[in-house]
Amino acid sequence: MADEALKTTLSEYADEFVSEREAQISQLEAKLSKIQEEQLKIERSLHSARFAGQRALQYSPVMRGQVVCPRCWIESETLRRLTSVAGGTKTHDVWECSHCHTQFEVRFRK
Ligand SMILES: [Zn+2]
Repeated sequence: MADEALKTTLSEYADEFVSEREAQISQLEAKLSKIQEEQLKIERSLHSARFAGQRALQYSPVMRGQVVCPRCWIESETLRRLTSVAGGTKTHDVWECSHCHTQFEVRFRK
């Protein structure tokens, strides 16, 4: 009889452990999915970083008649126009990217 009680009780514990573990499945799947998305982002960023030097070789400040944003070119090899902003002064001018909005101060050289 003690054997039956032992078997029944332990089987009930086993069922409880199953319920506890199964309750974690959706949470773990969501966590894994988030990590995989992050991994994909890191892999893309790493790939982009590894080829930055190669893209720099093809960068020219003026392409197709446009002043080109170096940041957008290096990061994604996309041609984005820079426009002069703030009117400039006798000593420098400021250019801004139409896409990433990075500003570049250009000091005039004598
Ligand atoms: Zn840009």
